[in-house]
Amino acid sequence: MTSDNPVIDVWNRCLEILRDNLNEESFKTWFGPIKPIALDAQRLTIEVPSDFWREYIEEHFIGILSKVLRREIGPGVSLVYKVRILDDIYVEERPKGGKPRNAEIPFPDMGDHYTGSPYVIPGLRKLNIDPCLNPIYNFENFIEGSCNRLGRSAGESIAANPGRSTFNPLFIYGGPGLGKTHLAQAIGIAVKARFPEKVVLYVSANTFQNQYMNAACSAKSANNGNKVADFLRFYQLIDVLIIDDVQDFAEKKGTQGAFFHIFNYLHQSGKQLILTSDKPPVELQGLDQRLLSRFKWGLNAELLPPAYETRLAILQAKCAREGVTISDDVLAFVAQSVKTNVRELEGILYSLIANATFNKQEITMELAQRLVDRVVTDPKSEITVGKIQEAVCNYFNISDDVFLSKTRKREIVQARQIAMYLSRSLTKTSLSSIGAQLGGKDHATVLHACNTVSDLMDTDRSFRGFVHDIERQLNSPE
Ligand code: ADP
Ligand code: MG
Repeated sequence: MTSDNPVIDVWNRCLEILRDNLNEESFKTWFGPIKPIALDAQRLTIEVPSDFWREYIEEHFIGILSKVLRREIGPGVSLVYKVRILDDIYVEERPKGGKPRNAEIPFPDMGDHYTGSPYVIPGLRKLNIDPCLNPIYNFENFIEGSCNRLGRSAGESIAANPGRSTFNPLFIYGGPGLGKTHLAQAIGIAVKARFPEKVVLYVSANTFQNQYMNAACSAKSANNGNKVADFLRFYQLIDVLIIDDVQDFAEKKGTQGAFFHIFNYLHQSGKQLILTSDKPPVELQGLDQRLLSRFKWGLNAELLPPAYETRLAILQAKCAREGVTISDDVLAFVAQSVKTNVRELEGILYSLIANATFNKQEITMELAQRLVDRVVTDPKSEITVGKIQEAVCNYFNISDDVFLSKTRKREIVQARQIAMYLSRSLTKTSLSSIGAQLGGKDHATVLHACNTVSDLMDTDRSFRGFVHDIERQLNSPE
């Protein structure tokens, strides 16, 4: 069949040959959505749905595609991809390095049998999958405080209206043990309770990464492109996707590409994304800029360490749930002692209960004291940004005023950079908070300082000596 449009005619002829040489499933999945855009001399431009798509075509089909294009268009043919990034915004890319990466590898014969997928049961319209939610991590058990109010109320409004609220994606971040996993799961549980037909899935970034790698590796070894396509299709069927600890995607380029594709698809289809991370998007390293910018589209909600009243309320709620009675002063003492991590707070409570039950000990103040001492480090010996500043100033003999002043003198700038570097490696303080404490700098300045110091340490032995000396002093004061 011919049309009035020569580009479409040429592309249709290419498709016919491709269809004859690929298995039906791969052909439909990967070539169905491609649109021919222009043919200018021997330059063919095609539109592909995402950058991941382009990479996939390049990786798996460029051998056969270039043969077909040479045959239908001519030996000097070149190919340009047009990739849609956002509605109406495109980038153009040529195949990398001029020469297709695996052009010399003969295109594998994939046969036409469908091997099935570990993720989707063929013929099943609506997915009935285990959402991987722990029923304990619900909203009722998640004690509210000013430390988590924003995230919690955003979560509740998502649960009432998944995908349709303005909080898409909801990006929950905060330090370890502050309730990110609990809150993210609570949203999933509430959605399932209200809308049982919705497909909800909780998955850690590591599991997602393993699934993707399995699919990609088996696609390579078995010459079967279906696995990655199955993986993508499976994730595209989800209504509420919760990915925990996205900082673990750092430096995993292939996984990030797949996730980017899934993110765009779900977001554009009005599906809900909930992500958690140990850092805000601006501080995540090793993640693609295009992903980071999407993380900022919806709402970024920080979970902060809970205040004393919230810590006490968490302990009381857990005692009530476990059916144990612990005296008020013991609970108050525990709440007072563990300040920065709810997991540790809980840990002490459960050790108290276990000691009382198994060792038949009474839950006394002494027992609580002993357990707390084991878990909580003495705040006096803890390294803080303030102590690092003090050590750096002493070492280089600089006064605090000069250190914190606006001076750009080289030695002072370098001392500040060392303090930033050490604060990052020896404390859990966020980059923005380090910057604020060391002369009102922003997180980018701190990041730059850390990179400068670590470069200098690699190349300059005496500089490395200074940093190590200060670090030793901090680790063993006196
Ligand atoms: P994260 O994922 O941030 O490291 P988790 O969600 O695993 O932290 O929380 C650690 C533990 O603390 C979990 O057992 C969780 O139930 C509990 N927890 C955290 N925040 C709260 C809260 N606000 N109310 C009750 N329990 C909490
Ligand atoms: Mg977690």
